[in-house]
Amino acid sequence: MIRDVIVLGGGTAGFLSALTLKIKLPQLRIRVVRSREIGIIGVGEGSTSDLPYHLHGFLGLEQTRFYREARPTWKLGVRFEWGPRSHFNYTFTPQMASQLEGVRKTHGYFMWDDFEDCDINSALMSRSKVFARLQNGLPDIRRNFAYHIENAWMVEYFERIAVEHGIEITEATVDHVERGEKGVASLTLNTGERLTADLYIDASGFRSELLGKALEEPFDSYADALFCDRAVAGGWERGAEPILPYTVAETMDSGWAWQIEHEQHINRGYVYSTAFISDDEAEQEFRKKNPSVKNTRIVKFRTGRYRRCWVGNVFAVGNAHGFVEPLEATAIFVICQALRFLAGALEENDCRISPTMQASCDRIIRNLWDEIRDFLAVHYRFNTRLDTPFWQACRSDVALHGAESIVQHYRENGPSMFAQLDVLPPSTSLFQLDGFYTLLLGQKVPHDRLYSPPPAELAKFNDHRIRTAVASKAGLTIPEALAYIRHPQWTWTPGFFGK
Ligand SMILES: Cc1cc2nc3c(=O)[nH]c(=O)nc-3n(C[C@H](O)[C@H](O)[C@H](O)COP(=O)(O)OP(=O)(O)OC[C@H]3O[C@@H](n4cnc5c(N)ncnc54)[C@H](O)[C@@H]3O)c2cc1C
Repeated sequence: MIRDVIVLGGGTAGFLSALTLKIKLPQLRIRVVRSREIGIIGVGEGSTSDLPYHLHGFLGLEQTRFYREARPTWKLGVRFEWGPRSHFNYTFTPQMASQLEGVRKTHGYFMWDDFEDCDINSALMSRSKVFARLQNGLPDIRRNFAYHIENAWMVEYFERIAVEHGIEITEATVDHVERGEKGVASLTLNTGERLTADLYIDASGFRSELLGKALEEPFDSYADALFCDRAVAGGWERGAEPILPYTVAETMDSGWAWQIEHEQHINRGYVYSTAFISDDEAEQEFRKKNPSVKNTRIVKFRTGRYRRCWVGNVFAVGNAHGFVEPLEATAIFVICQALRFLAGALEENDCRISPTMQASCDRIIRNLWDEIRDFLAVHYRFNTRLDTPFWQACRSDVALHGAESIVQHYRENGPSMFAQLDVLPPSTSLFQLDGFYTLLLGQKVPHDRLYSPPPAELAKFNDHRIRTAVASKAGLTIPEALAYIRHPQWTWTPGFFGK
């Protein structure tokens, strides 16, 4: 029976673990052990649309305070400067699968030549607007946005909430981990104190102190699909640049660069492969393309995941369990999914761990990581933007794994949703067939079913594009929308995010 939980790590993964367990299972004693000396990863982060749900829906954390203290901006998707088009938008809304009444084919078949304005969120992104307006002029905020958020601000906010919920925080470094029959037997701190618990959450970041180091769980590398292993990160104070409601993913010579938007500053980083470019060369290319960048720092990583996330009495979450580069900003999504499973499983089993529940969790989280790898592989394999040695190698060597059958289906049938139950069942997928097709069509990967719609259908589709464009033009910029939600009379609709 689990009564006492130690969370090792006070980054996003650690505090989200502590809060999720405490809010859902308040009877648990939760202690966070973290070392300020080691610090947190500290890079500006983009999320998926799952994070707002996890925070405000699942955990019920109130929005006004969150916006005041964690200071996020909104993100509607990713703008890919990728492939032969000048850019294309990946959104958190279905772009390909929608279908107009009286039109024989789904939107995807109309998007080969022109990718713009098929979906309101993509149209808003293209005009640097974040929300359409309701008839009364107020922002039409739906549940399909994500956050751009500064890692340190979010963690500080979590820490304050954690203390208010009675979570105990110990500032110390774990020097020694004693193994036992159930997994971990105890943690010894640099203060000499020895801590024991019924369940240990490993949220120690890349160090993976418990799952990786102490329990020696095997690590499955994703290096055959994802060649990048390093990032140089920097940024600058915002000048006259508009606050963009999306992450930019720009093709670079030996990888790609992100741009994440905070209200007062811009966070930029170049993810690259050291097999193709040195740190110095990457830094030079990065600075040349971003002359405003001030200080930079290099972050080393390896992509992949430990085989299991839940081994004995250790549950690993965040970078301690797995990592892929932030091309689709999925890390926090996996953290939230894992924690919802853990909290649900403990609730269901009256705070007991059962091997079958552990195995289910391992399979679900493993499949999630692997789908993310496969989705990112599609980004690399088909990007024809540059002809550098890195991109040539990507186009010839990136392993598609589970995406192979999706690509084959697309090549023969175009962006067809018809057999999705077989190709990629919606209930099992994060990105959905829609997401894979957005990347394939966005990069203009050829298929055999180019559609020439009859004039009446084309007229209907063009009319839809025009209406979407008009609605997006009338939308609000991020500063305009922030002014609304900061107004003393603004209220968030209770239950907006569900439970
Ligand atoms: C370049 C880059 C860009 C990224 N961008 C995104 C993004 O856009 N979107 C996204 O979702 N994710 C992104 N990520 C991933 C993101 O960093 C993580 O998902 C998230 O911040 C969780 O980190 P963490 O809590 O697992 O690790 P960390 O933030 O590293 O926290 C680890 C914690 O463990 C503690 N610790 C470690 N060892 C010990 C010890 N022995 N004793 C005591 N304490 C210890 C540390 O002090 C710290 O508190 C990015 C990662 C990188 C590298």
